[in-house]
Amino acid sequence: MTVPVVKVGHHQLSGTLDTWSCPMADRPPAHDPGGLVLRRRTPRPPLVFEVLRRETVGDGIIRVVIGGPGFDRFQDNGFTDRYVKLQFAPEGIIYDDPTDVETIAGRPPAERPRMRTYTIRWIDDAAKELAIDFVLHGDAGIAARWARHAAPGEQVVAGGPGGAYRPDPAADWHLFVADDAALPAVAAALDDLPDDAAVVGVVALDVPGRAAYLGERFADRFQVIDRVTGPSLTAAVEGLELPGGEGHAFVHTELGEVRSLRTLLRGRFSPERLSLSGYWREGKDEDGFQAEKRAEAEAATAPAR
Ligand SMILES: Cc1cc2nc3c(=O)[nH]c(=O)nc-3n(C[C@H](O)[C@H](O)[C@H](O)COP(=O)(O)OP(=O)(O)OC[C@H]3O[C@@H](n4cnc5c(N)ncnc54)[C@H](O)[C@@H]3O)c2cc1C
Repeated sequence: MTVPVVKVGHHQLSGTLDTWSCPMADRPPAHDPGGLVLRRRTPRPPLVFEVLRRETVGDGIIRVVIGGPGFDRFQDNGFTDRYVKLQFAPEGIIYDDPTDVETIAGRPPAERPRMRTYTIRWIDDAAKELAIDFVLHGDAGIAARWARHAAPGEQVVAGGPGGAYRPDPAADWHLFVADDAALPAVAAALDDLPDDAAVVGVVALDVPGRAAYLGERFADRFQVIDRVTGPSLTAAVEGLELPGGEGHAFVHTELGEVRSLRTLLRGRFSPERLSLSGYWREGKDEDGFQAEKRAEAEAATAPAR
C-alpha cells in the first residue's frame, strides 16, 4: 500500500540532485531540444495541496483534482506543458512534516520520497483547483497505482511548476507527436489554439481509444497508432507530409523514441521551434529514467580529455 503523496523539491534532497534539473525544468531556455543541460535551480518551498476529488476522464485515465493551501502559493508559469513533481513516501515511512526538506534529506536514501512528474491539465483560479490526469500503465508504478485510489482529504506535496512550451501563435502550423503519458500536455496545448489553427498530430497509444481524450476540435488532424502493434512514432512521422511555412513541434514521448525523433526532426525544425522531451523510459521506473538522463547530462558537459 502506497502512503499518501508527499513532495519536497528533488533538488533539495541530495548534493548530486541539487545541480541537476530534468528537461523543461523550472527555468530552462525555451524549447530546450535535448533536455540534457545542467543548470542550477533556486530551491522553492514545496506546495502542500489536498485531494478534492477523483474522476475518470478517459479509458484508463484518472483525473485527480487538487486544491487547498498549496493553490494560493502556486505560481503559474504560463506554459501549456507545465508540470509538477509529486513525491511518494516509501512504504512504511511517515514524515512528521513532509515539507521539512532538510530533515527528510538527512534520512537514508531508502527512506527518502520517490519523485514522479505530472502535467497540470488545467488550472481553475476561481475554484482554486488544478487537475492532474494520470494515464494508467499497469500496476508497477507507484504514481499510477496511487491515482486509482486517491481520496479526498489526502495531502499532496508538490514542487514546481516546471515547463517550457506553449504553442507559438506566430507559427504557421503545429506538430504534435506523443504517447499516452503526453496526452494531458497535448490536450492543454490544443486548448490554447484557435479553431482555425493548422494542426498535424500523431499519437501512439497503448489504448488507441484514449485519443478521444483530446476532444473533437482537432480530432481529424490526428493519426492514431496502436503503440503495441503499430509502427513506431518515428516511422509514422517520417511518413508525414508536413505543410510548408514554419511549424512549431511538440514531441514528447518515451525517451528512446524521443532520441530517434530528435535525429529525424532536428534538420526540419530550428531548436527554438522543436520541443522534445522524454516522459518515461521503457524498462525503468522514473528514478532509473532520471538517473539515466542525469548521467547523460554529466557526460555531455564533462571536459574533453
Ligand atoms: C514533464 C513530464 C510530464 C508528464 N506528465 C504526465 C501526465 O500528465 N500524465 C501521465 O500519466 N504521465 C505523465 N508523465 C509520465 C510519468 O511521469 C511517468 O509515466 C512515470 O514514470 C509514472 O510513474 P509511476 O510511478 O506510475 O511508474 P514508475 O514507477 O516510474 O514505472 C513503473 C514501470 O512502468 C513503466 N512505465 C512508466 N511510465 C509508463 C508509461 N507512460 N507507459 C508505459 N509504461 C510506463 C516503467 O518503464 C516501469 O517499468 C510525465 C512525465 C514528464 C517527464
